[in-house]
Amino acid sequence: MSIYLDYNATAPLKAEVREAMMALPLLPYNPSSLHRFGREARKRVEEARARLLTYVEGEGYRLVFTGSGTEANNLALKGLQGYKVMASAIEHVSVLKSCEQAEIIPVDSQGVVDMVMLESMLAHETAPTLVSVMLANNETGVIQPVAEITALAHHYGALVHCDAVQGLGKIMVDMAALRLDMLTVSAHKCGGPQGIGALILRRNLHLAATLTGGGQEQGFRAGTENVAAIIGFAAALPAREQQKHEQERLAKLQWKLEKALEGKAVIFGHTAPRIPGTSLIAMPGVSSETQLIAFDLHGIALSSGSACSSGRVTVSHVLLAMGVAPELAGSVVRVSMGAGTTEDEIEKFIGIWMMLYEKRT
Ligand code: PLP
Repeated sequence: MSIYLDYNATAPLKAEVREAMMALPLLPYNPSSLHRFGREARKRVEEARARLLTYVEGEGYRLVFTGSGTEANNLALKGLQGYKVMASAIEHVSVLKSCEQAEIIPVDSQGVVDMVMLESMLAHETAPTLVSVMLANNETGVIQPVAEITALAHHYGALVHCDAVQGLGKIMVDMAALRLDMLTVSAHKCGGPQGIGALILRRNLHLAATLTGGGQEQGFRAGTENVAAIIGFAAALPAREQQKHEQERLAKLQWKLEKALEGKAVIFGHTAPRIPGTSLIAMPGVSSETQLIAFDLHGIALSSGSACSSGRVTVSHVLLAMGVAPELAGSVVRVSMGAGTTEDEIEKFIGIWMMLYEKRT
């Protein structure tokens, strides 16, 4: 038995994505070549670019393919020079480490950006400013009020970057309605291949390239494009109706899970809007590591929500920013569901969680 409940770490490759990518590596596809293979590659890359832009309602914006969401965040934050950055306390490390001098925007106990503080920070700032706030948090799933943030930031003349890596393919991402200046996306959180992301930005924005060389990607990101991954990225985007249906299905599973643990578990951000299928659950008194090992022994793959590249469990900066005590923050597991998750799997998770809960000392 193997149950995968770690979709926010990476989602399994969708069958249609694999199919779209399979034939391609056999062809000598370099979009910069002038011969027929090169022209065909260029056509396929531009079709994928257009599909992604349409999907995020980003017609009129510029899309730069990158090697990951991490790279897109680096390009947005390091590339926009001469700006002061304000970033929320719960951003992904790829944002926080790209702007170490940033002023940090606090969040409330539900993990939602404090709009009063943001307004005060913007009102006191005289330098050109970029605000960076994510669409949905990878640990809690909490959705940020991005439309309100852009309205406020624009009122004070600031630009807004949004890391939508955990939103794409799960909830509606509408750049035009959100009036964003820059948006980061990544393929592997929604069933596409790993190692491909994109930064979407307004055409009048000038960024210094973080990778220089042959001038690919309109001069924003040098290096031969990963054609197969780009095609796979576009193929991963679900049809609107399918996405809506899946959103409703996962919301029901999430409700079932959280209802079963009511009164025993602490669920973070539970009164805020969240992406369906993500629950960050504390079992007070039992460390994340103990829980993760026990679930793994029972064939359930989860994470604590803050696993770093070393594979060690660290206390989440997101929970600390929400004012959660370190002991409680150290007793969480994150359930993140996706297309393959079934009701039966959630029932098994509940059964094992209850067993661990009963056995705790
Ligand atoms: N931003 C968020 C919110 C994420 O959850 C992640 C991945 O965990 C990233 C950025 C980085 O994306 P990638 O894995 O494509 O570098």
